Amino acid sequence: MSHVFHRSSKGTLPVAAKGDGVYILDTNGKRYLDASGGAAVSCLGHSHPKVVQAIKDQVDQLAYAHTGFFTNQALEELSDHLIARAPGDLQYVYMVSGGSEAMEAALKLGRQYFIEKGEPERRHFIARRQSYHGNTLGALAIGGNMWRREQFSPILIDSNYVPPCYAYRDQRPDETPEEYGLRIADELDERIRQLGPETVIGFVAETVVGATAGALAPTEGYLKRIREICDRHGILLILDEVMCGMGRTGTLFACEQDGVAPDIAAIAKGLGGGYQPIGAMLCTGEIYDTIRNGSGFFQHGHTYMGHPTACAAALAVQKVIDEENLLENVRQKGAKLFDALTARFGNHPFVGDIRGRGLFQALEIVADRGTKDPIEPAVQIHAKIKKHAMDLGLMCYPGGGTIDGKRGNHILLAPPFIVEDSHVEEIVGKLDDAMKAAFAEAG
Ligand code: PLP
Repeated sequence: MSHVFHRSSKGTLPVAAKGDGVYILDTNGKRYLDASGGAAVSCLGHSHPKVVQAIKDQVDQLAYAHTGFFTNQALEELSDHLIARAPGDLQYVYMVSGGSEAMEAALKLGRQYFIEKGEPERRHFIARRQSYHGNTLGALAIGGNMWRREQFSPILIDSNYVPPCYAYRDQRPDETPEEYGLRIADELDERIRQLGPETVIGFVAETVVGATAGALAPTEGYLKRIREICDRHGILLILDEVMCGMGRTGTLFACEQDGVAPDIAAIAKGLGGGYQPIGAMLCTGEIYDTIRNGSGFFQHGHTYMGHPTACAAALAVQKVIDEENLLENVRQKGAKLFDALTARFGNHPFVGDIRGRGLFQALEIVADRGTKDPIEPAVQIHAKIKKHAMDLGLMCYPGGGTIDGKRGNHILLAPPFIVEDSHVEEIVGKLDDAMKAAFAEAG
């Protein structure tokens, strides 16, 4: 009997034993093509020698030193590396151990920033429905994933929501995607006015929505309008790039493609590529300086922040991405993956939409392409597809509709940046087989 408290106490899991490039092998030697990077994590695959060596070297020198006593070289170098490539005025990096921690730090920094500016009445965050910002109580409270929030809602801080930018579902027949995006963005302006701009800390959004909507990118101009609205009201723009950032969409920060820079950004998954647990919050010089010139102390912290081994691993991952020009591969193979998905599923009766940026692509599964009605939630079609894919040796990331069961299910693909054409073919072929088996099982 296993004593592990697994996420799901139903069923059993294969035992992962070895990484080999884009594959994971279990203890029976079965190979799984990691087409989802776990949950969009493993950007370099599972056995990159330079990253493995960097971790060994760091542990040989110094595995850990508490940041209340020391800074460390890996932390300093990684921060410099990120800031040299970060958009806008992002100038400081607060290194933590994962995505939820990065988001918690972002929320608390937003609140403290305004306190130090002499605006303590600011207490509201506004986020979008159909979003996910992490599972700790603060991040969960902000997120608009109702399924994950539901049973905890009595103990969560209040949140305020505006609609997601979801053209496939919500665009009206009489408007272009751009017009739709601007109309939806303007709902933020309205919500800020309702709450009272002087009470709002910031707007929180995933640049490209991951787990709750499936690689859902904003329409052209949407984020620029959002930035304008935040500036007009003097509130912070906090972009959660935990899943979509660090090159996943073809640029290091996804928001670069929208011509927008946030006041605070959260990154994680692809930062360390899974070689070590690591995440980070980046903020502008203006925010940092306000605290430096005020109390001089950010009222937050974690034991493992700035962990030298985690930073050394992430630095190695990020250097490999530069040295091997992997963002170019993300763009090229991302386009190949999108084309291959379109060729295979473009006329599929149950695939309503194929979308994404770079190596962050998704299929939205529907019962009817005309009405866009979702498949009955009880069928759990996305979970069935995942199960059959695993049987076939393919990892893909399933997601369910989260607004009153009225949104489609989706399958998210986020393969490592090192994928080759043959892997793209294997992904699409096996996904097709898994979907056939899942729909046959669902009847
Ligand atoms: N934000 C986004 C957009 C995510 O996708 C996730 C995780 O899936 C998180 C935050 C939370 O990250 P973590 O699971 O590392 O705490």
